Amino acid sequence: MTIKEKIPHYSLFINGEFIEGEKKESIESINPHTGKVWATFSAANDVDVNRAISIAKRSMEKGKWADMLPSMRGKLLFTLADLIEKHASFLGEIETKDSGKLLVETATQTKYVADYYRYYAGLADKIEGATLPIDKPDMHVFTTCEPIGVVAAIVPWNAQMFLTATKLAPALAAGCATIIKASEIAPCALLYFGRLIKEAGFPDGVVSIITGDAKNCAVPLTTHPDIDRIAFTGGPETAKQIIINSAENFAVTTLELGGKSPIIIFEDADIDSAVNGIIAGNFGASGQSCVAGSRVIVHESIKNDVIARLIKKVNHIRVGSPTDPETHVGPLCTEKQIILIENTLKKATSQGAKIQFGGKRKQSEGYYFEPTLVDCPNESIATLEVEMFGPVMSMLSFESEEEAIDLANNSSYGLGSGVFTTNLARAHRVSKKIKAGICWINSYRAISPIAPFGGYNRSGYAREAGIQAINDYVRTKTTWINISDEPMANPFVMR
Ligand code: NAD
Repeated sequence: MTIKEKIPHYSLFINGEFIEGEKKESIESINPHTGKVWATFSAANDVDVNRAISIAKRSMEKGKWADMLPSMRGKLLFTLADLIEKHASFLGEIETKDSGKLLVETATQTKYVADYYRYYAGLADKIEGATLPIDKPDMHVFTTCEPIGVVAAIVPWNAQMFLTATKLAPALAAGCATIIKASEIAPCALLYFGRLIKEAGFPDGVVSIITGDAKNCAVPLTTHPDIDRIAFTGGPETAKQIIINSAENFAVTTLELGGKSPIIIFEDADIDSAVNGIIAGNFGASGQSCVAGSRVIVHESIKNDVIARLIKKVNHIRVGSPTDPETHVGPLCTEKQIILIENTLKKATSQGAKIQFGGKRKQSEGYYFEPTLVDCPNESIATLEVEMFGPVMSMLSFESEEEAIDLANNSSYGLGSGVFTTNLARAHRVSKKIKAGICWINSYRAISPIAPFGGYNRSGYAREAGIQAINDYVRTKTTWINISDEPMANPFVMR
């Protein structure tokens, strides 16, 4: 007799409790390494959403959270950061089984996520208003920053712990209550994270973590009249729906969206360093990154050299199990991505592109795709336009600096960008002209809680991380005090 392995189940976290959704519906989570179900999780519907929001709203109006001093909110965030660090390996293991991302990456990233909570913990008691030098002698006028209200934080599957931190940490520092909507793909680590919220000592209901599909969960959440802010990370098509949804509640909205980021390699670059940069930008996280540098723009004179060195390195890239510490490229999260890549590559080759290496699904039970280089003869090749979320880089060549900048800016997106050059003046000149929210010079994919992150155009308009992100979670109140002994004068004349 075979003993059936018990499949773990992850519940919704509402009002400090782990509960099943009102409909008691579960969704299966597929391990992308095996293509088989490894866990189940509860799905929330509008009843669950409404409950989470009404508890969050109440917690902002009266009780422990409403009365909590900012310095105490900071202390709770520091405690939460310590707990995340302590549980980073375990959370990483869950995320790896759920999303297929490499364990070395998920465990390390989760550990670093703790620093985002620490950064905003330190800001909690530094959110200041101002006394205004008002132009009326009998008035004392000051501003105070109030928490904006109940936040809906919507995250995609590709880095749920991290993308939650960039929203939840400033929201809690500012005193907001937050409903986190985990993606219905790979939400298990985030649902588990509820335990740490509870253990850190946040009052029940201040943070709820739910998941479910768009119709039953995400739409009721983002259209609800008691949501004051929507912090969204995901694709541009979903973002359009978010904007429409926010017309129902006038919630202030931030959008962090996709990308098709350029990396320019000039003829004076350190070529080995640049090759490492384009590998990091395209094959790191199996290419499943919003800042993937998937449009590589290389000076004509060094193109063959770049390709030759790239091929040499790619021959040593190990594609395999995400739990093996020797693996460089793991599986993609869903089969849908593989189908999108296959179709886009088919179109690209019919347009005249040449696949230099890769280009095929790996024959295994999981969702593996080979690291791929597409050599593009012109700018209209499909792989230069479609965000594929996989290990596929497309290469174009240029002759002049001006042409490189034009090629880099020929995109509806504008999230990341990279420039490899040893010429300092050129580095400054080019980074100034690139239309993207982030520019890495002789580097790629570096992030920090201290550095703002966000895009232009179809990549959205939010800036997460950094000091100013706290302003997304507060609103200003202006208080006017009449300091004269005079009563109100003529009520029909504005003072
Ligand atoms: P997605 O847009 O399909 O889903 C994101 C979230 O939106 C999910 O939680 C989903 O349930 C929810 N959603 C779906 N329909 C909705 C609706 N009508 N109303 C409200 N919410 C809805 O994105 P995905 O496929 O999970 O993630 C990949 C995308 O995320 C890529 O485009 C990637 O570039 C982007 N991304 C951006 C960043 C960034 O910081 N800019 C970071 C990571 C990922």
